[in-house]
This record gives sequence, structure tokens and C-alpha cells, in this order.
Amino acid sequence: MSYQKVKGTHDFIKKDASTLEAIRNVFNRVCERYSFNSHYVPTMEYSELFSRSVGEGSDIVRKEMYTFMDKNNRSITLRPEFTAGIVRSIVENKLYATEPLPIKSCYFGPSFRYERPQSGRYREFYQGGVECVGTTSIQSDIEVLALVVDFLSAFALRDQVVVKVNHLGGEKTRKAYRDALKLYFSPRVAFMCPDCHERLDVNPLRILDCKVEEDQQIIKGAPTIDQFLSEKEKGELEKVCESVKKLGVHCEIDHKLVRGLDYYTGIVFEVHPLRGDVTQGAILGGGHYHNLVAQLGGPDLEGVGFSFGVERLMTLLSELAIDVRLPLGKKVYVMPLSDPCYNYASDIAHTLRINGFVTEVNYEGGKIGSMFKKAERLSMDYGVIVGEDELSRGTLQLKNLATQEQVTIKKEDLISTLRKGH
Ligand code: AMP
Repeated sequence: MSYQKVKGTHDFIKKDASTLEAIRNVFNRVCERYSFNSHYVPTMEYSELFSRSVGEGSDIVRKEMYTFMDKNNRSITLRPEFTAGIVRSIVENKLYATEPLPIKSCYFGPSFRYERPQSGRYREFYQGGVECVGTTSIQSDIEVLALVVDFLSAFALRDQVVVKVNHLGGEKTRKAYRDALKLYFSPRVAFMCPDCHERLDVNPLRILDCKVEEDQQIIKGAPTIDQFLSEKEKGELEKVCESVKKLGVHCEIDHKLVRGLDYYTGIVFEVHPLRGDVTQGAILGGGHYHNLVAQLGGPDLEGVGFSFGVERLMTLLSELAIDVRLPLGKKVYVMPLSDPCYNYASDIAHTLRINGFVTEVNYEGGKIGSMFKKAERLSMDYGVIVGEDELSRGTLQLKNLATQEQVTIKKEDLISTLRKGH
């Protein structure tokens, strides 16, 4: 008899195992900088927790949960996601009464969903994420997105992804939108899949998540939420998008983005790869929730959070040939050859620093030979040389000071080249 792993699960061996650990370490470090504390919750919870929070109408609750009766006849579910468990834990332990608000928790571990196994879709997969509970400010949504950008930048992914944002509106907006969706889908649902029939009654918003090919034409014509957002909500959405763009990452408003979980209200977001295997879906998703804490028996506190899929992140990194196991913190010496290149050099230094490289810039001038000597005395690993030619072309020269190998590359390729271990 030979044994095989359960369908949709996988082993992490050698390179995969160390990549997973490197991702976890980087994530922990970024979370620490934003003052998030590790929070461990059980892998299993009572099933009602998820049907209550993720929502009876969601695909997760309707079809994807690993649910079983224990020996005492209680319905138990392996967590399909973390937010419900973390919020349950905050409420059950009354952290809101003993800890200063907001409560900032981060987590990492496996989740379980009975999905059709395919690229980027597993039945047991790893997620990492954060929840920030007890804040009302839109600024917290922006800060959580800043953490997302810093995290992805640590892997040189800032230019490789797009952040999609939407606003699901307050109570009034969502009611008007739900009514409009009901009106639109009621006469059409007869031509749609049986799941959509059910969704129409339970939560018409979930029809927008339907993956059935034949239903897409009808879904395309559905009203979008922007027609129902108040001026304040539209302003918030613009503000979030502008703030994310200022972090140097692609960001677009996508009014079709509704997320697959019912607890989200207000700002929602997802991060998708710009290129590569886009069919595998979002790397990361999250948003704001107004009612979840109260729904789970706690006080009237809002929260915001996100989670990323570790396997999907690993797939993207491998497609881009980025090896995150390389030690971060290599030392780079930036050498502008004349005054006009100083701004360009400090731009490069900034990119290096936010990507985890120890960086020093030579603003003292002098001959190139003496700059290299200084780099050696400072035990630098790499030299970056920028003269006026490089400035005008948007390039730079990168020299590995151990091997003496030197290449000319585009400025935007610097981080990925270093990560590849040039
Ligand atoms: P969700 O909150 O459902 O959007 O999930 C958050 C993230 O977890 C997604 O953006 C994916 O990266 C990841 N994820 C969700 N479901 C799966 C799955 N079945 N297999 C692998 N990763 C997943």
C-alpha cells in the first residue's frame, strides 16, 4: 500500500520550505515595524463562527468548508480564513477592555477550503495577514495598505503588482445597491446557474462572485456600486487610491471588486500580479469591516485587515526568478560622479533602503578610484556608479565588489538584479 498526500495539499521541501520561512520572517519584520503583535488562534472553530461572519451566501460557507461533527456532536470547521477567528479571540478575551485601541494582531498559518484544486488554488494553503480592530479613521485603512506595499517591496514586487480598491459603502449605500441588484437580476436569474438563484435571496452581491462562464454576460450588465456611493464615500475612495499611488505602486479603482466574504463594508482591496500567471487570482485581499466585532458579541468597534496567500506569492516570485532566501541587508555603496547626479543617487539609495539594503551614498566627490577604496574600507558588497550618461538614460552601473563583475542596468531593475544575486 502506498500513501499519497490528500488532493489539493502539498509538501514544502527544501527550497520551498526555506522560501516559506523567509516569507514568514520578512512578514513578521514588517508587521513589527507597524506595531502589530503576533496572534495565534486555533485551526478549528465552531462552525457557526464562519457562517455568521463570512456569510451564509458566500461560496466559502456554502461549498468550501471542511466541517465535521466531533465526538460530542458539535459542528467543527477547519478555518477557511483567519479574520473570524482573530476577531472571535479579541472579543472572547475582551482585549478591547484591557488593551489600548486599536488592537493590532498579525498571524500566519494554514487555512482550508474545499476548492477544485488548480494552479493557485489548494485545499490547504498558507495565509499571513493582519487585523487592526478599534479604529474609525480611513487613515488606518491607508496604513494597512502601506504595510502591504512595504511587505511586497521587500521582495522587489512593487512594480510587479496592481492594487485594486473599491468602496462598498455604508449601510444606506449597500441597501440601495442590494435593491438595485435584486431589481436587475430578478428577471434574469432564470437564465443563470442554480447557485445564483440562491444568492439572489441570501445576498445578491454574491452573484457578482459567480465564476460560471455562461453567467458572465448578464453579470457584466449589472449596476455597479459607484452609482450609489455618497460624496463622502467617493472622496474616501479617491483618497485611499491617491495615497497608495504615492507609495509608488500601481493602484486603480475597480467598482466590480466586492470580495467573497460578507463582513466587508467600506474600503476593500486586492493585489493582483501585473503580468505572469494572472489566472491564479489575487495574491492578497482585505478591507474594512464595521459590524463584524459586534456581530460576534463584542462592542461596536470597526476593523480593517488583509490576508495574503503564501503559495500564490511564491508562484509569482518564482515566475520573476526572485529568490527571497538570499540574505537581506547586503551593503551597497552609491557613487554619484558629479553634482547633477546627486538627486538621482539619493533616489536610488531610497529604493535600496526601503528594500532592506544597507546603503551609503558618497556625496563627498573625489576620484572614482578613491570612492572604490572607501567602499572597500566600509566592507560594501556592491557599488552603484551613476554619472551624467546614466542619469540621462535612466540606467546605472552595478559592480559586485567581490567578483569585480560590472553590468549596466536600468534603474528600475536594480532591486531584482541584486535579489537574483548578481
Ligand atoms: P480571500 O480573503 O478569500 O480573498 O483570501 C485571501 C488570499 O488567500 C487570496 O488573495 C489568495 O492569495 C489566498 N487564497 C485564497 N484561497 C486560496 C486557495 N484555495 N489556495 C491558495 N490560496 C488561496
